[in-house]
Amino acid sequence: MKNKLIIPAILLGAFLSLLYFASPLMGIPTAEKSNHFSSDSLTNKDESNMGTTNLTEEEWKQKLSPEQYRVLREKGTERPFTGLYWDNHEKGTYKCAACKSELFSSDTKFDSGCGWPSFYDVSSNSAIELKKDSSFGMIRFEVICKKCGSHLGHVFNDGPAPTNLRYCINSASLDFKKEEKKP
Ligand code: FE
Repeated sequence: MKNKLIIPAILLGAFLSLLYFASPLMGIPTAEKSNHFSSDSLTNKDESNMGTTNLTEEEWKQKLSPEQYRVLREKGTERPFTGLYWDNHEKGTYKCAACKSELFSSDTKFDSGCGWPSFYDVSSNSAIELKKDSSFGMIRFEVICKKCGSHLGHVFNDGPAPTNLRYCINSASLDFKKEEKKP
């Protein structure tokens, strides 16, 4: 009878000791892990990826026209055949209207007939970011300025060779710099 009580008592003691010593050890990694993957650190990381032009929305509002703000910062779309550049055939470069980062060259601009400036390539792949956009029941890829995170337009795979891409960009997101004629 005595032996029958001693064994469970030893086991219970061992279990309680294990709990006592192990709980702080188990607690530290959990805390570290939660700090590591907190939503704050992920948010900060995303913001740093947005580029160097980290203005507040209030500052963007001051800097941009109401139409530019609606398109660039609120992912709006200008009405087709109304923008400044859909029918522009001059030689030059198209920059981001928000941060002036160089985005497209007139060399890759083509008449797509869609009513928005269309390009089959970007000046540099590092100038833009693509993001899957499932709004309005369609799967599209949104084109974003890598430097300032502003919305530019969408890219489709029905463009001409050699890329077969059509970067369909709002005029309001662009600032055209005409090529200077050489003397
Ligand atoms: Fe930009």
